[in-house]
Amino acid sequence: MYKFFKKNLGFLVVILIFLLLSTIIFQAVLTASKAYNGITILLDAGHGGRDGGSVGVNGTVEKEINLTYTLKLKEKLINSGYRVELTRKNDDGLYSNLAKNKKLSDMQARFNIIKKTNPSLVISIHMNSFPDHSVSGANTYYRASDEASQKVANLIQASLNTYCGAPNTLAKPGDYYILNCSYYTAVLIECGFISNPTEELKLNDEAYLNSLTDAICSALMLYFGVQSI
Ligand SMILES: [Zn+2]
Repeated sequence: MYKFFKKNLGFLVVILIFLLLSTIIFQAVLTASKAYNGITILLDAGHGGRDGGSVGVNGTVEKEINLTYTLKLKEKLINSGYRVELTRKNDDGLYSNLAKNKKLSDMQARFNIIKKTNPSLVISIHMNSFPDHSVSGANTYYRASDEASQKVANLIQASLNTYCGAPNTLAKPGDYYILNCSYYTAVLIECGFISNPTEELKLNDEAYLNSLTDAICSALMLYFGVQSI
């Protein structure tokens, strides 16, 4: 027996390593398949590139903070088992540099990504601005007369009201390209007013970034009926 082991030691070591690796790969595949809940969410950070969006009283640039909120939300949704795709992943706009109408080109590119992704839900992230600097609060919008979009928008708004002190309102119908360009369930969240100096500071605070993205995640758990893993 000893002789057999000695003679075949190399072969046995190879078998052992193979079994060990198979177990590790099998466990990894098992964990990955358990983590994905079958739902794809497309996150759309508003503006980008030459289109900066609004600018806050203390200089917050909307396109930049939109991306910060989008990336944080992406991280949390992936941890909760969703597959997440993004329209834009960096500061660049999605328009072609050759396009005469850059805004139109940017919007068409976002529409093409929606079609290609075929998501269960589109969430567009923006920051609000208003001439009256006292106006504040997060607002959620949906495509008028779209039941599914209205339902998820109301759940998000209720969550924002509870966890982020948003004004106690319902979600509102909104006439935005990203909501109207397709028949996919879609909401647009104006996370707060960067034209309000107090709210602008709050929106730039890490703790508030976490509260607001947590509020969105918990609303989605209610909407899709899946538990956080
Ligand atoms: Zn915007």
